[in-house]
Amino acid sequence: MRGGGHSWPGKSVCDDGIMIDLSLMNTVSADPSARRAHARGGALLNALDTAALEHGLITTAGVVSHTSVGGFTLGGGMGRLNRKYGLAIDNLRSAEIVTADGKVRRISAEQEPELFWAIRGGDGNFGVVTEFEFELHPFDRNVLSGNIVWPIAQARDVLEFYAEWYAGLSDELYVGPAMATMPDGTAIILMEVVYNGDPAVGEREIESLRKLGTPLDDGVKMQDYMVMQTQEDVTFGHGVRSYIKSGMVSEITQGLIDAMLNAYTSDPRLAMFTHTMGGAAKRVGELDTAFPHRNAETMIGVGGGWKDATDDESGIALSREWYSRLEPFMGGYYSNIDFDGAKAAGNYGPAYQRLQAIKTQYDPGNLFRLNSNIVPG
Ligand SMILES: Cc1cc2nc3c(=O)[nH]c(=O)nc-3n(C[C@H](O)[C@H](O)[C@H](O)COP(=O)(O)OP(=O)(O)OC[C@H]3O[C@@H](n4cnc5c(N)ncnc54)[C@H](O)[C@@H]3O)c2cc1C
Repeated sequence: MRGGGHSWPGKSVCDDGIMIDLSLMNTVSADPSARRAHARGGALLNALDTAALEHGLITTAGVVSHTSVGGFTLGGGMGRLNRKYGLAIDNLRSAEIVTADGKVRRISAEQEPELFWAIRGGDGNFGVVTEFEFELHPFDRNVLSGNIVWPIAQARDVLEFYAEWYAGLSDELYVGPAMATMPDGTAIILMEVVYNGDPAVGEREIESLRKLGTPLDDGVKMQDYMVMQTQEDVTFGHGVRSYIKSGMVSEITQGLIDAMLNAYTSDPRLAMFTHTMGGAAKRVGELDTAFPHRNAETMIGVGGGWKDATDDESGIALSREWYSRLEPFMGGYYSNIDFDGAKAAGNYGPAYQRLQAIKTQYDPGNLFRLNSNIVPG
């Protein structure tokens, strides 16, 4: 199945098979009285955000607006509001799915609950999801948000401050570091900030961060939520050649900070970024959904993008090298970003056996296998 075609490991395109392209099935409708959004299987996150915001509502969506709800949600779905509202799967209330036997099923916590449990983290293993129903939350789209940027020479101070600071943060605050190189060669560390709440309270919460060191730029201000939600759309635009590896991190230790600093590679093609979790995303029980990384405080991604095919070999090799230095501090990977067939069972952890039983029931022939594959028993 192809939703938004965003799969980094290329899971939307198969060789010698059929691609079910959902990109024309792309509408979203929001019902403000029920606080629900109905998104068709190939709808883009921009359409989901836009439909909800029109009614002063929102749900957790990812950080690049041309990703589709399909792959994004089925793998978990992290976004800038997940500390307050949980992952996308935590807001999923029902779905319509076409299973391998050709049946169209409406599933929820009440209807076929095992299958509904499995699609919340179990990837595209169980069928083609043609509609997602999400819970929406009241939201003021004018949010305190932006990036604070320091020169890389201050990276140790920024990371060590963050390691002491993050555990006590409110659910309203999404904040995490990234290390990159600007197109002009300036090496930087930045913190992305989104405060989903009273801006005066948010200003107080981020005060110590803003006072840290000597930033090159402090862009945190009141601005429309969609400014942040689209700020990386061009960097990761279609046609950019891109490679990323990811890993889940439950604690930001001194060892991890040292590794981040030692592994940093100044190359405008590459970056290390984080996807902050914790908060509501962490309070969901480990086996309440099939998403296996509830203990994570953050996800780290390493990699980047370039336009020229001749950069592929060196870009991929450097990404892998950088990642390998951080890997000892990670516990599993985010299946929406990484794809290692051999490690899929281990990555699902204690959820795997139950997933395998459900896969055996709904897709015994493993028709849907270009994913973090659960092999039928
Ligand atoms: C630039 C970029 C930014 C990203 N940002 C985030 C982020 O902020 N948060 C986050 O959590 N993830 C993020 N991701 C990862 C993203 O969630 C995954 O790549 C996701 O799989 C993309 O979904 P898609 O439908 O666009 O991709 P596709 O490549 O079309 O599909 C990916 C996988 O999902 C399956 N699939 C897609 N739609 C359906 C459907 N309707 N029913 C059944 N199976 C389906 C496909 O078969 C395939 O296996 C990002 C990826 C990119 C490239």
